[in-house]
Amino acid sequence: MDGYTVLRVIGEGSFGRALLVLQDSSNQTFAMKEIRLLKSSSDTQNSRKEAVLLAKMKHPNIVAFKESFEAEGYLYIVMEYCDGGDLMQRIKQQKGKLFPEDTILNWFIQICLGVNHIHKKRVLHRDIKSKNVFLTQNGKVKLGDFGSARLLSSPMAFACTYVGTPYYVPPEIWENLPYNNKSDIWSLGCILYELCSLKHPFQANSWKNLILKICQGPIQPLPALYSYKLQCLVKQMLKRNPSHRPSATTLLCRGSLAPLVLKCLSPQIIREYGEQILDETKISEPKKMKIKGTSSEDERSTAPASPHRQRWETHVPSSTLAALGKAPILNSSVTAEGDRGGSVIKYSENNARRQWLREPPEALLSMLRDADLSLAFQTYTIQRPGAEGLLRGPLSEETDSVDGDHEPVGLDLDRFEPRLDEEDTDFEDDDENPDWVSELKKQVEWRDVCDGKLLEECA
Ligand code: ADP
Ligand code: MG
Repeated sequence: MDGYTVLRVIGEGSFGRALLVLQDSSNQTFAMKEIRLLKSSSDTQNSRKEAVLLAKMKHPNIVAFKESFEAEGYLYIVMEYCDGGDLMQRIKQQKGKLFPEDTILNWFIQICLGVNHIHKKRVLHRDIKSKNVFLTQNGKVKLGDFGSARLLSSPMAFACTYVGTPYYVPPEIWENLPYNNKSDIWSLGCILYELCSLKHPFQANSWKNLILKICQGPIQPLPALYSYKLQCLVKQMLKRNPSHRPSATTLLCRGSLAPLVLKCLSPQIIREYGEQILDETKISEPKKMKIKGTSSEDERSTAPASPHRQRWETHVPSSTLAALGKAPILNSSVTAEGDRGGSVIKYSENNARRQWLREPPEALLSMLRDADLSLAFQTYTIQRPGAEGLLRGPLSEETDSVDGDHEPVGLDLDRFEPRLDEEDTDFEDDDENPDWVSELKKQVEWRDVCDGKLLEECA
């Protein structure tokens, strides 16, 4: 802690605390995450991963890493301080007043640019949620909290252990399937839905209904105020089949967002990061022949790279649903002491982060039965008005209607349909790039010319 003065606590979580600090030498403020280091070396290594991954990221829409150090059993990660709080707080501040569509799109594009950056570096965030998106007073939006992030071994790799927040967890995790970058896209879709509706896309009164709704249920339309393109965007990102969800690059380079991207970049960001952003959003793979009814992206995501790789199921996960059918409604009176088994690693003083392992549905259910929900998944509060055990997310209002447990969760066939072929556009010719790319290119080139001139003048 030498060299920093603590001004106040700005957040508290499973890891320890987030502090606002003043760097004595520069008189600048920073956010500092104070993480208890655990005795076991693997846990300690895990905690260090957050600093290592964050340090690899350099992007205007990712919380900037400054330094990290260890002292007296704590790991300290010093990073840029975002003075506008987190996005969940911002959504709550609205008190039901909808955001203008322009604001939503501006924020959302900034988050997409951040997500695109980490995906290009083969890093999955795995805990994308409004609480992990930070704002600055000057309108910048930054993705933070890399405590759950994971580096994939290859661009095509699927990962098998998941850490995250159940409200934002995609169907493939509940269905015990491997996950990849498209799982982050799902969570990103949940954020877009929250920005538009000021509530979570899936409201339920039990774990069983929450998971059923995530896996197959209908999604309530966005408020009528918002455009059709915004509705489509949400629907695409919340497709049940990951390969039908657009990648971050597709989101930015194609379709309705493309013409707006440049407007979200300030001249200063263009100066500093223009080339990098261009590089990350340019289509790097050769155009492939498209066969009607399929898409290149589908083939990429579903083709087994090794004989052991699991394939996506195309039908409703009957084993999961059958098992879930028998699941009791959970309530908040369960308080687990220590580890009761199941597949949850519950947070306690000795466990750095909440996480659960991929296990068959039966094990998942035993986890849901025994887990101490309020501790294991900190974004939840579970309230029990009367005898009803209600599972509510942090954006829920007392008045939100949630389905009764006996009400069947409807099947939304649309979510099972692939996206239209022409929407699946990860593999396009460069000359089909949207205007913002060429516009940005011009600006970056212009900057180079100016820089060159400046250098000449200096010489
Ligand atoms: P975790 O979710 O693992 O507990 P976070 O990194 O999300 O840890 O930090 C917890 C809270 O601290 C955040 O929700 C936010 O309110 C605050 N916080 C963390 N980092 C920053 C930052 N760079 N700028 C401003 N606030 C921050
Ligand atoms: Mg967090």
